[in-house]
Amino acid sequence: MLKIQNSLTKEKEALKPIIPGEIKMYVCGPTVYDEPHIGHLRSAYVFEVVRRYLKFSGFKVNFVRNVTDVDDKIIEKARTAGPKDLNAAVREVSLKYFDLYKNDLKRMGIQDPDFEPKATEYIPQMIALIGELIEKGHAYAAGGDVYFNVATFGNYGEVSHQRIDQMLEEACVETGVLKKSPLDFALWKSGKEDEPTWVSPWGKGRPGWHIECSAMSLSYFGGGFDIHGGGRDLIFPHHENENAQSRCATGKPFVNLWMHHGLITTNGQKMSKSLKNFVTLSRLLEDDPAFGDEILKLTFLGTHYTAPLDYTSERLKMDRQVWKRFMDFFESARNCEKNGAKIAVKSVTEIHHSFREAMDNDFNTPEVLTKMHALINEAHRSGDAIAMVTAAAAIRNFGSEIFGIVFDQNIQATSLKPEIEAAIHQRALARKNKDFNAADDIRNRLLSERNIELRDLPDGRTTWRVKL
Ligand SMILES: [Zn+2]
Repeated sequence: MLKIQNSLTKEKEALKPIIPGEIKMYVCGPTVYDEPHIGHLRSAYVFEVVRRYLKFSGFKVNFVRNVTDVDDKIIEKARTAGPKDLNAAVREVSLKYFDLYKNDLKRMGIQDPDFEPKATEYIPQMIALIGELIEKGHAYAAGGDVYFNVATFGNYGEVSHQRIDQMLEEACVETGVLKKSPLDFALWKSGKEDEPTWVSPWGKGRPGWHIECSAMSLSYFGGGFDIHGGGRDLIFPHHENENAQSRCATGKPFVNLWMHHGLITTNGQKMSKSLKNFVTLSRLLEDDPAFGDEILKLTFLGTHYTAPLDYTSERLKMDRQVWKRFMDFFESARNCEKNGAKIAVKSVTEIHHSFREAMDNDFNTPEVLTKMHALINEAHRSGDAIAMVTAAAAIRNFGSEIFGIVFDQNIQATSLKPEIEAAIHQRALARKNKDFNAADDIRNRLLSERNIELRDLPDGRTTWRVKL
C-alpha cells in the first residue's frame, strides 16, 4: 500500500482517495517572471513521478498545476520593459517566461497537467470566493483591500504547525495598513492606476496570491481533494492561508494530504542571479547536449523528494558517472541480446515488485536507484547473459514508465558529437539564408543516417539527442 508523508499530520499515511480509485491532485505552479531554473524543474519533476506512479498503481489521476501570471514580481519586471502600456508588458513578461518553463518541461519529458489554469482567467471565481468569506464573517473590506480575519478560524496554524500566540509575537506590524490583526492577510488588493486591475465590489484591484490557488482548485475539483503539493517554502504563509480561506468558505475539509518537496541550493546557497549560481537546463544542455536532461533526472531521483538538494559540480560529476554506468551496462546488455539471450519475464515482474516496494514507501526513488545499481552489479558479477538482458529490461521499462528516463541510449552518439555539431551549424546557416529545404535536408539526414533528433529551443539554439 502506498504511503505518503503528510505535512498536516507529520506522518507517513496510507493514501485513501476520497473517490475510490481516483486521485485529485493540485500543485502550485510557477510565478512566471524569470528564466526557469532547476528548482522549478525539481518541483515539476517530483510531481511528474508522483503522477506516473499513481497511474502505474492503477489510480485515475486528475492533476492540476496552476500558473501565477499576475504578481508584484511580474509587474516589477514589466516596468523595466520601458515606457509602454504596463498591462501589455505584464502579459508579455508572463507569456515569455511561461513558454520557457513549458519548453524546459517538454525537454525533461514532463507531460502537461490535465488542467493548467492561469490566475488571470479565474478572477470572477476569486471575487465570488472573497464575497463568500465576507458574508460568512471571515473577511472584511478596508480601504479598497479585503483581508482574511485569521481570528475567525480556530485551526489557523495547522498546516505549518505554529501557534497563533507565537505567530502574533513574531509578526511585524505594517504601518498604514488597515488590518485588524498583523496576521490577517490580503485577499484583494486595491491596484495602482497603471497596474493590471479588475473591477470588484471593493473597487478596482487584483487578487492576493493565496486566494488564487483556492479559487482555481475549488472550482476545478468542486470541493476538497486528495493531494496538494508544492515546495517547502510554500507551507507558510501560502498553504496555511489557502487552507484557512478554503475551509472557512466551504465549511468542509480542504485537502487530505499535503505533500512538500525540499528545495534546491547550489553549494549551500539559495539560487539567485546576483550570486551567479543560477543553474538552468539550457546551461546543462550546453555542456551535455545529448544527456543533460537525463542526468538532471538522476540528480533529482538520487535525493528523496522531501529532502533538500544541494547542487554542486561534484554532484554533477558523480551523476554523469552514474549515467555513464547505465549506458555501459545497456551497451553490454544489447550485445547479449544480439547474441540471442532471452529476457526472463518472470524475473522482470519480481524486480518490478521490489522497485514498487520502495516507491510505496513515500516514493523512495533513491532506494530504487540503489536497487538498480545492485542489479547491474549482480548481473556483471554473474556474467550470465540472461541476467544481463533481464536486468536491462526491468530497469529500462520501470525507468521509462515511472521516471520518464530513456536509459537505453546509444553510447556511440557521444563520439558523433563533432559531426552533429557541424551539421547543426550548417543548418543554422541555411535557415539564416532562408534556405529551408537545405535545413530540412540536414535535419532529415541526421535522423535517417545517424538516428539523431534535433530540437530547436526558443532562444535560437538547437539541441540534439539519440532517437529511440
Ligand atoms: Zn498555490
